[in-house]
Amino acid sequence: MTAVPATNRPATGAAGGNAAWLERSRAAVWHPCTQMKLHETLPLVPIARAQGVWLEDFDGHRILDAISSWWVNLFGHGEPRIRAAIADQAGRLEHAMLAGFTHTPAVELAERLAEIAPGRLGHAFYASDGASATEIALKMSYHAWRNAGRPEKRGFVSLAGGYHGETLGALAVTDVALFRDTYEPLLMRHATVPAPDARLAGGGRTPADVAREAAQALDAHLARHHASTAAVIVEPLVQGAAGMVMHDASYLALARAACTRHGVHLIADEIMTGFGRTGTMFACEQAGIAPDFLLLSKGITGGFLPLACVLTTDAVYAAFWDDDVRRGFLHSHSYTGNPLACRAALAVLDIFRDDGTIAVNRERARRHAAIDAPLAAHPRVREFRRTGTIVAFEVDGAGADFARRAFADGIARGILLRPIGRTVYFLPPYATTDDEYAMLVERTIDVVDRA
Ligand SMILES: *Cc1c(COP(=O)(O)O)cnc(C)c1O
Repeated sequence: MTAVPATNRPATGAAGGNAAWLERSRAAVWHPCTQMKLHETLPLVPIARAQGVWLEDFDGHRILDAISSWWVNLFGHGEPRIRAAIADQAGRLEHAMLAGFTHTPAVELAERLAEIAPGRLGHAFYASDGASATEIALKMSYHAWRNAGRPEKRGFVSLAGGYHGETLGALAVTDVALFRDTYEPLLMRHATVPAPDARLAGGGRTPADVAREAAQALDAHLARHHASTAAVIVEPLVQGAAGMVMHDASYLALARAACTRHGVHLIADEIMTGFGRTGTMFACEQAGIAPDFLLLSKGITGGFLPLACVLTTDAVYAAFWDDDVRRGFLHSHSYTGNPLACRAALAVLDIFRDDGTIAVNRERARRHAAIDAPLAAHPRVREFRRTGTIVAFEVDGAGADFARRAFADGIARGILLRPIGRTVYFLPPYATTDDEYAMLVERTIDVVDRA
């Protein structure tokens, strides 16, 4: 057994090179979602700079960021218009607290998100990351029912394989055993209903049939438990952390109808699917539905700064409007509505408008479908699927350590893949050119060949 590395050991690698940063990071930084001991054998990848779809290490090796740095980067690294907006804002107002104060970026962003969001979601509550958006929606939903004289409505329902973040409240509605099981004794009770996983189609069953059956299960659950249920939370169209599990849009329409029928809030967690990933600005649009809460984060700032936003309805907002302070929503985070982050998000919305990103992406997805056809036809590739700019597939016969090995193989070939179990996926920045995509496909085929 090797010793636990001591803190702040002096680095022995060449100063400023990959090895030195790797060692210093291992000693001082506790990395997320990582068994740190693994880095005895699997090297960290130190990143010095990034441009477009390329990350670059301290020794000049380039890595194609096929997963948008954990789904946050939107247009490519170093997008000059977002950079300029942040720099401009930093010269005016870096931060002011949003309790008792307000500022231009927070107001303008709330207005513009309300304009483009499905339905009428005119009330924006800010936070700093996705998990806190989930926490806010859960608390707000429960509190709204409580203020309406229904305190017994405090249960939540989520889908099998659903992922909504890893703070305790968010983890309670997350169904990923690896993240959840250890903390089970700390989590509030909630219910899980079947996911409308389109891979279950076949043998005469269409994805729409699968969606209808899953929606019937939700409806049956709500019929029994609506009196004690506050909200249903879903990832519309694509369940990301479950392994890019996709479903037919009809599920969302049926789930919306079931929630309305049974008097339960619908929370749409578009933290990953928002901002064009699924081919429309928001995934909910494809089902023609509006949720009671819309959760946004990740791509909202183009991957520059942490920001989250919970949009909700007049009805929810009205439930808190009172002379009694305690009937207000007293939740807060120190950096709520940070002006730099809000300005980055405004720059993102400008780019969507000025570049016609949604239409451009639709064309790009069509071209990419021709480019990745050889991968889709690979003998070891199963369930090749696509929603908007997201592509995923399973690798047949992949071993238990496939995800780790494929990551390392990818890095060695200059591509960043981070498989989830046996599922490989692409969630690339929108700046990815056809040539870069062809390179990604070719190198991924290499990785699959070696699996
Ligand atoms: C990433 C993610 C979250 C959590 O966001 P963090 O910023 O990582 O806390 C929640 N829901 C979904 C759907 C996500 O993809």
